[in-house]
Amino acid sequence: MIEVNEAQCQAIGRRLRSQTVQADEFLCVPATLEEAQQEANYWAFAIAICQHTKSLEGVIAGRWRRGWDYLISASRRSLAEFASAPAMAQIDAGRLAAMLSDDFDPARSTVDRVEERLGQLHDVARVLLEQYEGQAMNLYCQAGGRILGEGGIFQRLAAIPAYTDPLDKKAQLLVGQLDAAGVWPLADPQNLRVCMDYHAMRVALRTGIVEVTDPGLRIALRQKAQVSDEINHAVRRAVSDACDRVIVHGGVSVFEFDKWIWHLGRSCCFYDHEPICGPRTCHKMEICTYIRAVDYACPGKCSLDGACKGSRDDAYKTFWETNVYTEFY
Ligand code: SF4
Ligand code: SF4
Repeated sequence: MIEVNEAQCQAIGRRLRSQTVQADEFLCVPATLEEAQQEANYWAFAIAICQHTKSLEGVIAGRWRRGWDYLISASRRSLAEFASAPAMAQIDAGRLAAMLSDDFDPARSTVDRVEERLGQLHDVARVLLEQYEGQAMNLYCQAGGRILGEGGIFQRLAAIPAYTDPLDKKAQLLVGQLDAAGVWPLADPQNLRVCMDYHAMRVALRTGIVEVTDPGLRIALRQKAQVSDEINHAVRRAVSDACDRVIVHGGVSVFEFDKWIWHLGRSCCFYDHEPICGPRTCHKMEICTYIRAVDYACPGKCSLDGACKGSRDDAYKTFWETNVYTEFY
């Protein structure tokens, strides 16, 4: 149905080698144990509601933000509350909307799927309070700092529905973020994987690091037709395997690669316009996050132009990520 294209992983990896991924602007390295505990809780809550962030946008601290950037910038203003399990156990729709609005006015919030997100916050709070004295740091300590295995971080996180994705998108994001911040140094960092979200899928399908061999799936991906969970899983699995190969060829860490492909997918290869490569030149330099996240002196085209199959061939350029309803990414 879909398979890894090793030669193309090598070609994309070579391009990646010439770029440097900058430090993540949202990483916050704590100075004390209390701050570390707060960071662990904060990210456990924030990442639990990090799906379908498309509707979020506005101005926080004088800067226009969207999606994930908005979620983090806005929620960080209420850090003590957002990192508190007792507070999150009580949070209601009005308070969540207030925290995720420019001026704390719930009526002006752009957040959607509010009941779904409230349920996710309550679930995290319940598990932390019932099993870990309200501290995500205790979950990490009881797991011995291991991602995988019996009693490992992922097995423990799986008590929380938001963290039960078969490809562990939110769990991978959580451990990757906290490891990079020095909050949860991992005992088995070799088990880190790229977060499988819609940006990574779209870029992987267009670059040709995966090849769709099933004609029906090719049509579904081009027409944005809904696919089953089984097909979605197969696509994400193949993309994840391909990303592992690009990481090897590109000589970067999983964390760096994750930021790189994510920023690419929300900048040049975004879902609401044609890819910025081939004959097209850039129309969004002032809002691009890729050129802030990656050391790339952009000439007005994607850094993969020429190496990416989508920049040369419409058959690849016209792919979209799988169309599914999901709470996992
Ligand atoms: S500024 Fe460059 S990197 Fe950013 S979206 Fe435009 S072409 Fe892509
Ligand atoms: S070269 Fe074009 S199709 Fe390929 S990743 Fe960049 S924007 Fe997307």
